[in-house]
Order: sequence, then structure tokens, then C-alpha cells
Amino acid sequence: MSTHAPRLVRQTVTDRLVESNRAYAAGFADLGRDARPVLQVAVGACMDARIDLHAALGLELGDCHTVRNAGGVVTDDTIRSLTISQRVLGTRSVVLIHHTGCGLQTLTEDFRHELELEVGQRPAWAVEAFRDVDQDVRQSMQRVRTSPFLPHTDDVRGFVFDVTTGLLREIDRA
Ligand SMILES: [Zn+2]
Repeated sequence: MSTHAPRLVRQTVTDRLVESNRAYAAGFADLGRDARPVLQVAVGACMDARIDLHAALGLELGDCHTVRNAGGVVTDDTIRSLTISQRVLGTRSVVLIHHTGCGLQTLTEDFRHELELEVGQRPAWAVEAFRDVDQDVRQSMQRVRTSPFLPHTDDVRGFVFDVTTGLLREIDRA
């Protein structure tokens, strides 16, 4: 191939996102608010691509904090975000959302061992794999309710989002 041949500029997915952002910014209206969520709620959820939290919960821009990770599990980093959310930015309620068909249900803690075998180093983090999604929601709620760092643990509720119907199913409503 000649070095003088015109280079094919292949658009990456990120290029596409940046391009979309220009259109977004063109129609963007400044909320004119500070960083405190309007509804004083933080939502912890799985990063799953099939869950549009704002649409699923009727949320508008500025309404809530969203803390997402693989599984929507409550890790130390989730607690870090919730602590800042409550103590600095005024949220009072916590909603936790796991879902059907989660990728974490296909893993076990062996994943860490396999990683160690492959790269020679065991990750410091737990995989937080689970089989029973309801039970993992219970555990996540318990981690929030018992955190010494969170001043507001009266309104903590947990749900399983069904990716085939879009409906939430509440776990152990008090
Ligand atoms: Zn998931």
C-alpha cells in the first residue's frame, strides 16, 4: 500500500458520540441550578445497557443522582458516592435497582482466580457475582442501611427491573 494513498478515516463509536454531542449541545438549555438533585434521591443501578433509568422512572434532568456499576451492587465506591450525595448534595432517599438477566449471574468469584492466572495479579475487588437477584437486592439494601457514613437510611428501597417488560418488582417492601 502506497504511503501516499489517502487514509481511510474510519469513524469509531466515540467519534459518533462526539458528533451526536454537537447536536445535543445545540439544543441544550442550562438548568440554571446547582448540583443538588431536585428530588433528593440517589438511584443505584446496574450498568446494563437495557435500562434507561430516567425514562423508566419518569425522571427529568437534574432530578436525581445515578450511581451505576456492574450488577448495581453496593460496593465501597457506591457508599462513597452515596455519602457525598447525602452529606454534600442533600439527597435523602435511596433506590436500588438490579434486573433480570444480569451479566453478573453468569459469573462466579472464580473470575478473580482466572484473572490472577492470566495476568499474575489478583484484583483487590470482589466480583460480587450472584445467583439469586432478589437476595442480592436485599444484601445491597442492608449494606446501605448499615453504613455508618450515611445519615439518611429511613427511605431505602430495592427493586428488580424486568428487561422484557420494563416493570419494576419491589423486594421486601416494608
Ligand atoms: Zn446487570
